[in-house]
Amino acid sequence: MTVVDMLIRDAKVVIPSIGIVETNVVVDDGKVRALSNDRVDADIVIDASRPRLYAIPGAIDPHVHYGVFTPIDRAAETESRSAAVGGVTTMMRMLRLYASYRDKLDMHLEASKGSHIVDYAYHASVLMDEHTEEMESCVSRGITSFKLYMNLKGDIGSIYMDIDPYSSDLVHDRVDTTERMIEATIARAASLSCTTLVHAEDPEICSREMKKAREQGFDGLKAWSDARPAESEYKAIAFVTDIARRYGAELYIVHLGSSLAIDAVRNARRGGNSSSSSSRVYAETCPHYLTHTYEFDIRGKVVPPLRSKDDVARIWDAIINSIIDCIGSDHVANRLDMKLGSGDVWTALAGFPGIATILPVMLSEGVNKGRITLERLVELTSLNAARIFGLEGKGSIAVGSDADIVLVDLDKEQRVRPEMLCSYSDYTIYDGMVLKGWPVCTILRGRVIMEDGRVVGERGYGKYIRRTPRAQRSQRLID
Ligand SMILES: [Zn+2]
Repeated sequence: MTVVDMLIRDAKVVIPSIGIVETNVVVDDGKVRALSNDRVDADIVIDASRPRLYAIPGAIDPHVHYGVFTPIDRAAETESRSAAVGGVTTMMRMLRLYASYRDKLDMHLEASKGSHIVDYAYHASVLMDEHTEEMESCVSRGITSFKLYMNLKGDIGSIYMDIDPYSSDLVHDRVDTTERMIEATIARAASLSCTTLVHAEDPEICSREMKKAREQGFDGLKAWSDARPAESEYKAIAFVTDIARRYGAELYIVHLGSSLAIDAVRNARRGGNSSSSSSRVYAETCPHYLTHTYEFDIRGKVVPPLRSKDDVARIWDAIINSIIDCIGSDHVANRLDMKLGSGDVWTALAGFPGIATILPVMLSEGVNKGRITLERLVELTSLNAARIFGLEGKGSIAVGSDADIVLVDLDKEQRVRPEMLCSYSDYTIYDGMVLKGWPVCTILRGRVIMEDGRVVGERGYGKYIRRTPRAQRSQRLID
């Protein structure tokens, strides 16, 4: 009898189109070779028969900021370690450079190599006119998605960029995302059959309301939410989806957290996602919009802001009703002392870590509270992102796919502490919260990289996923 690399015995495999399938998973050369109950010998045998232990495809986090406060060569290790803890086997870096991609992209790709514990891919942000001319060269390097920050403009355009590899000098720049840039990016992405990711907030509304709130001396997350009102998201989504429709473009609206933003996406789909138009609008939310409101403390400063209880309920509805396609963490690998600034909401940094808590939050608050099924969880945390972003071999446990498999224990209860998340960040907004449902084993391409919260994967095993535009993808991904 031939001996294979790994056998996951008596697994309960979650396959969205079928359900929960009880089977052995045969893994060899990094791929799933069979889902069957035939007897095979394997070098590693994992017993997955325990009740309430399920095998799901490794999570894909489509929205990760790292390489901003520490260089990518270091951040790749710390943040992919955190990914492995959380059952994330593919992380997508939101590359943010205020420089020519021709000059700097290769440097970043090179420095990413050899440092990741999990697989990774890149999105490229379009932050200057020049970038719209460089999209093709990004495509030739395997980057087929581009991010627009509609929120960065005029007096609210300043933001930390990714720093140079091997450097520790923070880079702060001012971005001016013009309507011309927005249209040029969407048009070019459509012609390249690439996806445009959009941070949708209207900069004029935000600038005006923030100024007002500061002058009146308001503080706290509620003031932050009022100063970047959901109307601004609505307006920006309407604006950008209108352009997409004209070009038959595919958009992916990141981090929806308000009821109005959901309305805007629904409106856009009514007008756009029809057979007569190739325009599509995908939607992402983040775990924090499902768990936190503006009643939380300043650690929860993020853009778009945390909203009300009603908004949280509406985002859960959108999850349940398939309006939301993906869960991204919007992970920002920063530290608390820097995050807090001078202690008020206006000087605090936006963003916080979250890559390791996507699955625990969704298992605890989603699956274990009866809001979503495990099948739906898999669509939201893996399958849809693989399809939308063209991550070949990822997103499902099927014969021929990469053996990226996470065993999740729905009965495991744990109080969250920042140390166990293994990030460069030293805090989490889930600190002290008890979550029920945790990944207990993360397998990447047939190798165990995390066991019971302990990372055993090797730095450098994670590989860069070079993607191809939609028009050139295999049918498997498109269907
Ligand atoms: Zn982001």
